[in-house]
Amino acid sequence: MQIKKSLLSLAVAGLIAVSSPALVGCVSNTTSNSSTTNRAQLMLVSEQEVMTQSAQAYDEVIAQAKAKGLLNTDKSLTARVQKIGQRLIAKAPTFRADCAQWDWEVNVITSDELNAWCMAGGKIAVYTALVQKLNLTDDEIATVMGHEIAHALREHVREQMSTESLKQGALGIASLFGVSNTTLNIANTLAEVGVSLPFSRSHETEADELGLELMYKAGYDPQKGIKIWEKMMSMGSSNSGLAALLSTHPADDERLANLTELAAQLKAGK
Ligand SMILES: [Zn+2]
Repeated sequence: MQIKKSLLSLAVAGLIAVSSPALVGCVSNTTSNSSTTNRAQLMLVSEQEVMTQSAQAYDEVIAQAKAKGLLNTDKSLTARVQKIGQRLIAKAPTFRADCAQWDWEVNVITSDELNAWCMAGGKIAVYTALVQKLNLTDDEIATVMGHEIAHALREHVREQMSTESLKQGALGIASLFGVSNTTLNIANTLAEVGVSLPFSRSHETEADELGLELMYKAGYDPQKGIKIWEKMMSMGSSNSGLAALLSTHPADDERLANLTELAAQLKAGK
């Protein structure tokens, strides 16, 4: 972590003034076979705050889709995605026990965008075009959903917000933590950060590793599943609908090589 000491102590001072018992500093929130997911994380924004605001942002997205007649319209696709989601969700507590209490949701949104995401607290959306245009198999759907769920399990959005609040300095933090009448609209920020801003490379690698382990534990084939990233790379920029997912989840040869190795290790029981 590259944080100037003075800024950190300022931030901590700010935190003490407004802190609640839910606030924690550097922790690792998951356990897994992978060493990278034992990385300590900077967590200044409270988990509860992120979860509550994410749930609100999610409800808004879902309500809007419903109002436009775009929510879970393809019954068989919805059933298929939700079944895969349930298998993954059932195994998620092996990485962090507390997520068994999360209010998980899986919805399918009709859209030309090739996209999928999972907000904090297990609020998942899969867009129809992702499955239909790439003709995804169940293993491939499990791979992309596992990846998105892994971002939520690792609380990457909360970590991003914490880093961001440090950058803004103690004042920024104070406003972030002035939980009631904050000048920042956290719900909007979350919708933006959680859905449209790119994760860092290290977050992507973590989500790849934990996500693949999750889908494997749920009974899917990681070697078949990772073909989804090949499909996306082969489509590349020729498909405008793909831009959304690729902008937040850049796929390249190095990433694919890492996934290929991981998949082989999982199947070999390493
Ligand atoms: Zn990702």
